[in-house]
Amino acid sequence: MKVNKIILTFSSLPENVTIARMLTSALGAQLNLPLNELEELKVSVSEAVSNAIIHGYNNNPDKFVTLKIDATTDKITIQVIDKGRGIPNIKQAMQASFSTDPERMGLGFIFMQSFMDKLNVESEIDHGTKVIMVKHINTQPPSSH
Ligand code: ATP
Ligand code: MG
Repeated sequence: MKVNKIILTFSSLPENVTIARMLTSALGAQLNLPLNELEELKVSVSEAVSNAIIHGYNNNPDKFVTLKIDATTDKITIQVIDKGRGIPNIKQAMQASFSTDPERMGLGFIFMQSFMDKLNVESEIDHGTKVIMVKHINTQPPSSH
């Protein structure tokens, strides 16, 4: 089975959310993901990378976020890793409308959960957070009509 791995580490800058999105988009297109699923994959990556920058690093641009993509013909695994402040209560953080920032909606994890087939969060206080997301790829050839 063909395997493609991409690892990218970038500064914790909001403009790099776009870079992460574009990379995901390019890879998803190679895998022939349907457009709506590609869009969902991009949203999921954006949300996880934004969280790493905003919450993990409190917008400190001197820190680094790592995006790991592991693609095979039947599934795509995406990891977003920060070495930031960590999440004290993962279960609570993943609940709809929960946010430690009153200005935010608290929906990032909900999007990731609904758009991906699997979502797993590992986190340790003051050591960082790893968000692991899996999307299965329908291997049927695209319909011609
Ligand atoms: P929204 O995504 O709608 O803008 P939000 O970021 O607060 O709002 P979620 O993405 O669902 O909502 O995250 C919920 C909470 O989990 C955050 O408010 C934050 O407290 C915590 N969190 C998420 N990701 C991280 C991270 N990488 N490091 C530290 N805390 C995090
Ligand atoms: Mg968020």
